[in-house]
Amino acid sequence: MYNNKTLLALCIASALALPSLANAASGYTQTKYPIVLSHGMLGFDKLLGVDYWYGIPSALRRDGAKVYVTQVSQLNTSESRGEELLAQVEEIVAISGQSKVNLLGHSHGGPTIRYVAAVRPDLVASITSIGSPHKGSPVADLIRNVQPGSAGEALLAGLTNGLASLINLLSSNPSSSAQNALGALESLNSAGSARFNSKFPQGIPTTACGEGAYKVNGVNYYSWGGTSPLTNLLDPSDLLMGAGALIINKVEANDGLVGRCSSHLGQVIRDNYRMNHLDEVNQVIGLTSLFETSPVSVYRQHANRLKNASL
Ligand code: CA
Repeated sequence: MYNNKTLLALCIASALALPSLANAASGYTQTKYPIVLSHGMLGFDKLLGVDYWYGIPSALRRDGAKVYVTQVSQLNTSESRGEELLAQVEEIVAISGQSKVNLLGHSHGGPTIRYVAAVRPDLVASITSIGSPHKGSPVADLIRNVQPGSAGEALLAGLTNGLASLINLLSSNPSSSAQNALGALESLNSAGSARFNSKFPQGIPTTACGEGAYKVNGVNYYSWGGTSPLTNLLDPSDLLMGAGALIINKVEANDGLVGRCSSHLGQVIRDNYRMNHLDEVNQVIGLTSLFETSPVSVYRQHANRLKNASL
């Protein structure tokens, strides 16, 4: 027989247990391995308290995912950024107690995570690139036309390195690594991308606009991208995306910086979301197209895809 005190204790205990039961009930994004996010050029983890991946880590965590947001040099070669990220992945594996991670990279974060999967496939369950210029960006090609070794190039590199250093300084976890604007540019133009792809071909399509291998060295490869440079009148960054699109439009459909086919890696989930390059990480502060699935939902669906694939 329960006395009143025992009943009261049971009632309080079950009331306290309710919120945690509600959290556990969903599990929609509860992947087997942690999700690790790797930012793009001039990126960061948090800048003045604002997520680079705006609202995405919290949305994934809410339904069960373990999410780690990394930060590497804002401007550097894919290999240098990859080495920095690899050190962080080794730490995450040690902290989380899981043997592998699911790596997601936006923009230059794509080649960065590919480097980690190529050199340490044992630490990687999957690679997902979002709006990454795997075959290079025409915008980077255009900037490359500035005469190497000229005063113009020195000025451009100086200004961009300065901007990157400021972003690094204002971020929540400043990296001690140097900025290298010319190295970043070299990694993102067509010739540099081709060299990187010949060294690290995993998941890269062998045709101009096809899909790549879905699985290489035990690592699953996925990608998605957008093709709408202008999506929201309230977002001032659309002007920048529109300017980039003027350069690339002659070549192919694009997100303002990266062409549709250049974003292909492994299994192409979709290559024509109504999103521009910044919408792909739900920026600026959630201002994206009203006529497209929310970028946050796309990430949630992908986490669920990884979960269902036992990753
Ligand atoms: Ca936007």
